[in-house]
Amino acid sequence: MRLYIHWPFCLARCAYCDFNTRVAARRVAVAYAHSLCLELALWREALPGRGGLRSLYLGGGTPSTMRGEEVAELLAYCRRLFPVRGDAEVTVEVNPATWKEDDFAAARRGGVNRVSIGVQSLDDRVLRVLGRPHGAGDAVAAVRRARRAGIAAVSLDMMFGLPLESGHRFTQDMERAIGLRPHHVSTYALSLSSRSPMGRLVSRGEFHMPEDDVVADEYREASRMLREAGYVRYEISNFCLPGYECRHNMAYWRREDYLGTGAGAHSLIAGWRFHNLESILAYNRRLHDGVLPVSGGGRLAAGEEKSERVMLGLRMARGVPERLLPQAARLADLEEYGLVRREGGRVRLTERGMLLSNPVIAELMPA
Ligand code: SF4
Repeated sequence: MRLYIHWPFCLARCAYCDFNTRVAARRVAVAYAHSLCLELALWREALPGRGGLRSLYLGGGTPSTMRGEEVAELLAYCRRLFPVRGDAEVTVEVNPATWKEDDFAAARRGGVNRVSIGVQSLDDRVLRVLGRPHGAGDAVAAVRRARRAGIAAVSLDMMFGLPLESGHRFTQDMERAIGLRPHHVSTYALSLSSRSPMGRLVSRGEFHMPEDDVVADEYREASRMLREAGYVRYEISNFCLPGYECRHNMAYWRREDYLGTGAGAHSLIAGWRFHNLESILAYNRRLHDGVLPVSGGGRLAAGEEKSERVMLGLRMARGVPERLLPQAARLADLEEYGLVRREGGRVRLTERGMLLSNPVIAELMPA
């Protein structure tokens, strides 16, 4: 099994964000951490004997608003409840404005062997517009600190498709990011909710989202640069040096079992998908009453399960077995347009197919 722990607190709200996160006083975070421990203990009772954890992912929000020592304590608590395999991947998401050298060192001593650093851009002007609470120098320093602390794998999140024509060059950002030689790079196109502050500025015409072909060019260019630097694309948005795939995220795309804990977290266990209450207050209350904070979910029908397998599997470079896609005519059309490739009994998206992944995958969904 895999374990995800959600930490819904951030240093500041970024201008583009409408996730279930908030800036909170220390006492709110402490109360939430207590609830998390109660939830983990309840799951220990509800899911006995499921074998050792193969990966553990502490995401958010910004889990690095906890000190490195606190993250180590939380991990030690998990270990007391669930056996963790010796080769488990243990990831923490880190905001460049947060951790100092001793935080990385404490986290590593506590078992963290992978950090995912939310760099987004290495251009200070861009970071200001995005409302990120850090500068490019902080991101570079965070990468160096993680390495000096002996964290085995460093991943960077980079963002493209930004509403910033005024001189922003994503390729320059990528060049600098690749120059830091991270083990893993995730590249995400900005998807803007109209409810976020930046979304409202776009609605008022103060910023303009780039045209689709500009976004596609940026993605293509980033892929080329990463490929030439020795990175392998193993999923639409994810690239790594050989052997550094994020094993935890691979499990999501392969539909392996994972338990999500924390407010709003999602789980998949033995064919059941379920999710927790989103409200932190309601989440705390439920746990203080000794009840699991699950708010909904159910068992997927066989057809839904198959659709998920196709939808998630096609995101990965290895694709899916052809037998999952009985629509031979549609497949042949897409192949002719250079959007998919059939090889060795598997179907996968081509580079062009990845650029148009949503409509192509929709086309291939089982009826
Ligand atoms: S750090 Fe991430 S989760 Fe927090 S406000 Fe910024 S984008 Fe949202």
